[in-house]
Formats: sequence, structure tokens, C-alpha cells
Amino acid sequence: MMDKDCLFCKIIAGEIPSAKVYEDDYVYAFKDVNPIAPTHYLFVPKTHICCAKKINAENSQYVAKIFEAIAKTAETEKIDSYRIINNCGEEAGQSVMHLHFHMMAGVKMGWGKHSLG
Ligand code: 5GP
Ligand code: ZN
Repeated sequence: MMDKDCLFCKIIAGEIPSAKVYEDDYVYAFKDVNPIAPTHYLFVPKTHICCAKKINAENSQYVAKIFEAIAKTAETEKIDSYRIINNCGEEAGQSVMHLHFHMMAGVKMGWGKHSLG
């Protein structure tokens, strides 16, 4: 089910252009328009799920397919090391209310409490 008012549903439908990097029956992936790493892709389910809070037994197959798609993409593009991020909720940094996983690579990344606000 798609949401006609949702930005990423419009991108999946091709109503808004995007730089596609991967697609199958469940998953669409495209370049983030405002990358914060040399490689920065967004993987989204081809159904409208607002956020990680709404993942359940009926739709979790989409999440599994997204992680398969990320692994395939990494293999195809020979990306050996990468970070997968999901922001859930406004305080965590979610700005588009359609579930998405950031795949980022190409730079040495920090970790630890100082990487949080
Ligand atoms: P969030 O902040 O919700 O975790 O991530 C949303 C991401 O979507 C941001 O990194 C932002 O740059 C990206 N984004 C927002 N609008 C567009 C768009 O129209 N096209 C593309 N390709 N990325 C977008
Ligand atoms: Zn949507």
C-alpha cells in the first residue's frame, strides 16, 4: 500500500526522480540527495511503513529483503565496510516518515557517545 502524500512513495512510483542503485519486488534503493558519506544510499520498502515502530509479523519480510538487498549491493559494488542506520522518530533524526535504512561507506567512521547530539 502506498501513501499519495509520502515523498518516498512518490520516489518509488517514479513521480519524483531519484538516482536508483537497486530495485526488486520489495525494495527500492537510491542515492541520498544530501550525502554525508562518499557512498550514501537509502533502502526503502515498496510499501508505506512509517517507521521502525510499525514493523510487525505482516510486513517484516520487507525488512529482511532490505537487508538482503544491502548485502547484494555491497557485493556488486565491492563495498567491504559500511554502516546501516535507521532513524526512528523525530528526536532520533527521522525526517521522512517512510521507513528507510541509510547505507553509508567510503570514510573512516567514528563511534561512541560523542557521535550522539
Ligand atoms: P532521515 O533524516 O529521515 O533518517 O533521512 C532522510 C534522508 O532522506 C536524508 O538523508 C535526506 O537527505 C534524504 N532525502 C530527503 N528528501 C530526498 C529526496 O527528495 N531525494 C533523495 N534522493 N533523498 C532525499
Ligand atoms: Zn511512503
